[in-house]
Amino acid sequence: MGSVDLQSVTKTYGATRALDEVTLTIAEGEFFGLLGPSGCGKTTLLRAIAGFVTPDSGRILMDGQPVERVPVNRRDIGLMFQNYALFPHLNVRENLGFGLSVRHRPKAEIAARVEELLRLVRLEGFGERKPRELSGGQQQRVALARALATNPRVLLLDEPLGALDKNLREEMQIELKQIQRELGITTIFVTHDQEEALTLSDRIAIMRAGRVEQIGAPRAIYERPATVFAANFLGAANLFTGMVEAREGGLTRVRLEDGSLVTTRDEAAPGRQVTLAVRPEKMQVAAPGEGPNRLSGTVSHEVFTGTAVILRMDFQGRAISVFAQNDGGPLPRAGEALTAAFDPANAVILTDPAG
Ligand code: ATP
Repeated sequence: MGSVDLQSVTKTYGATRALDEVTLTIAEGEFFGLLGPSGCGKTTLLRAIAGFVTPDSGRILMDGQPVERVPVNRRDIGLMFQNYALFPHLNVRENLGFGLSVRHRPKAEIAARVEELLRLVRLEGFGERKPRELSGGQQQRVALARALATNPRVLLLDEPLGALDKNLREEMQIELKQIQRELGITTIFVTHDQEEALTLSDRIAIMRAGRVEQIGAPRAIYERPATVFAANFLGAANLFTGMVEAREGGLTRVRLEDGSLVTTRDEAAPGRQVTLAVRPEKMQVAAPGEGPNRLSGTVSHEVFTGTAVILRMDFQGRAISVFAQNDGGPLPRAGEALTAAFDPANAVILTDPAG
């Protein structure tokens, strides 16, 4: 129970295509992240699945059944939004039982379910408190439990942890993932936070201007982005533009303005203009000299992050970043020479132009 199918779903507001032919299938039990910049259509997509937004065209199916004409309260979904709006005058127990009361469930059943929910979100003993007597994280857990109260087949979360500070947010991410695993409930969530999407999702859809740019498991998208947009959105990427020269000995050579780089990837034919993308942590500080994929320049500035130092260097008119692990050893500083190198297996070929 709980698969969701979107087929060519389109929604326009005046001249804005909030959703533009979105097609995707979310499997039963999957934790699915919708990620993208502000205004790309994430919330509209979630609201269309919930039933608050009616698509102009396209189909939405749950467990294979069309739901376009099924009202929100019959779609069997649990909802949790960033401003999760617990009822302030009701205590935790009453907040959790509310959805079941309006469905006229027997009192004993509601009481038993509320106990179960309190255990699930580790709030036993907090049942009599009012929301204002709880911490932010506790309120968030009540909101989650409330969304789960009716045993929905799909859970929809819109920026669920957006209101929490960084530490609490990371703690809640782990809890949310554990609860989702335990229940095996299909969960679709919206975030604009790449790290959150990577941490929580089984699969991620990266959205851009109403369209799905790429779908895949976090590591697959991170390591094999399909486009410059996807590469940039899911973390930092060093981009090199050039033309594919030749493929020999298992390596594709890409000619840059000055010099060339090689990759093991072979998605583009000779003569094609491409962008090579290399993640900063896949580049190492190297000894100067000859060798494949060596880039030399001057450090423009360095950023200390604790575990690493990000060295920025200008290379053929483009800023590139190299993550150097902070192992206590000396590292080049601003104004000093830097040679960076990367393994040909770590350069991805993107066929759309770098901005
Ligand atoms: P954010 O991360 O900022 O919440 P989002 O990716 O969730 O953004 P949506 O809220 O889905 O984006 O909006 C997609 C586009 O549709 C935006 O250009 C937005 O202005 C527009 N839009 C959304 N809802 C409406 C509405 N009710 N009326 C008019 N335009 C809307």
